[in-house]
Amino acid sequence: MSQQTTLPNSTLDAEYEAATPGSARLAGRARELLPSGLSHDGRNFDPYPIYVARAQGPLKWDVDGNQYVDYFGGHGALILGHNHPKVTAAVHAQLDKGTHYGACHELEVRWAELVCAMVPSAERVRFTSSGTEATLLALRLARAFTERTKLVRFKGHFHGWHDHMTSGHTAHFDGTPTTGVLDGVASEVLLAEPNDTAGINRIFEQHKDIAAVILEPTGANFGRMPIRPEFLRTLRELTKATGALLIFDEVVTGFRVSPGCAQAVLGVTPDLTTLAKVLGGGLPAGAVAGRKDVLDVLDFKATKATGRERIYHPGTFNANPLSAAAGIATLEILSSTDACERANRYGEALREHLNEVIDEEGVPWAAHGSFSGFHIFTNPNGRDLTPGRFDPYEFIPDMLGKARGAGMTSRVRLGMLVNGVDINSGPSGTISATHGEEEMTATVEALRSTIRALRRQGELN
Ligand code: PMP
Repeated sequence: MSQQTTLPNSTLDAEYEAATPGSARLAGRARELLPSGLSHDGRNFDPYPIYVARAQGPLKWDVDGNQYVDYFGGHGALILGHNHPKVTAAVHAQLDKGTHYGACHELEVRWAELVCAMVPSAERVRFTSSGTEATLLALRLARAFTERTKLVRFKGHFHGWHDHMTSGHTAHFDGTPTTGVLDGVASEVLLAEPNDTAGINRIFEQHKDIAAVILEPTGANFGRMPIRPEFLRTLRELTKATGALLIFDEVVTGFRVSPGCAQAVLGVTPDLTTLAKVLGGGLPAGAVAGRKDVLDVLDFKATKATGRERIYHPGTFNANPLSAAAGIATLEILSSTDACERANRYGEALREHLNEVIDEEGVPWAAHGSFSGFHIFTNPNGRDLTPGRFDPYEFIPDMLGKARGAGMTSRVRLGMLVNGVDINSGPSGTISATHGEEEMTATVEALRSTIRALRRQGELN
């Protein structure tokens, strides 16, 4: 939605509904068919989500013709923006040659060559169809390889929705199973506090059967709750000393933070890395990459030679040719251009400009984040803070689960949508290499208008 559609005295809700009748109609149809009318929980939004008709570069348009600066970026997959011409051409070319051969093909070999050349920890790679499948496989590999059972994960970190990783993401911080998950699965997962060195040392002293530690290496939700680099080094040392595997979940950070993922920048090499999103260049994909001896648990000959039981791992769409074509084109661009760096630079400037607005408008919020991500902390507990000097580590307890104040985050999202910017419910966004000055200005002014509108409506002091 453009700034011009703003009616001076109307509420954000009325403006949204007036501008999006087509989305309202589709949401009505969807609610009769899909639980909550949705295919992804992250799209849940009151009064109803926008329905998008097309996208290009950093922009997308809904079915009512409203234009948005897009920070969903295909849930983080689109570091090159929508429809990068080389990626689109590669997919078109492959489409004419077939979408599924039910056979090995050259593209999967080339794709694996790129992954192994770019990712420091990657000696071998196994493709999956999603990030959830990648973390599920990585954790099973770790248990099979170490012949141990316990997994360590950190509060707030997200690793997909499979049974082993549901407690402790947005709820069940006591480690109890979420609904539908077996006690026996949840009880084998140890929930740790991020950045708590004494705590993780205690866990390792108490448990001698830890198969793996998994985490998002820049912190939960792409650095919304950041991880200290020295804590990563502690985890590397602890896992090495005890024979547990260190798994970096780089589903978001992989090929985004840098062509060599977060691990190349942070200087810590995990045993296994899970990848998805950017890996598939906008099409469905995932992968586990890592140490050869660990991935050998998937290998017919290696397991025969060692007498180990092999992990059975099929998957109809693993390394499907279309995703491989998009993924190869994307990885080739990322490894030969400064695309990641450009997105990171935009991120740094955007966070700074958002903080200027927050400061000028006098709200006790802060924009923060790292690399090509940004988050707007809306300070649900009304603590003292200075936007330019915000230390997110101090506020991690205010960001976990319900504490984060879902009410205000969705109001910010509504305000941004009304002002032509689509961010996720963090409220957060991921940036592409196609975001430029125009999008920067539009985003900063959208936040200003949002703050003013919320204040006008009495929702903000
Ligand atoms: N791990 C992380 C860090 C993620 O952000 C996500 C998805 N947002 C996943 C795993 C799951 O990936 P997918 O949605 O492809 O299953």
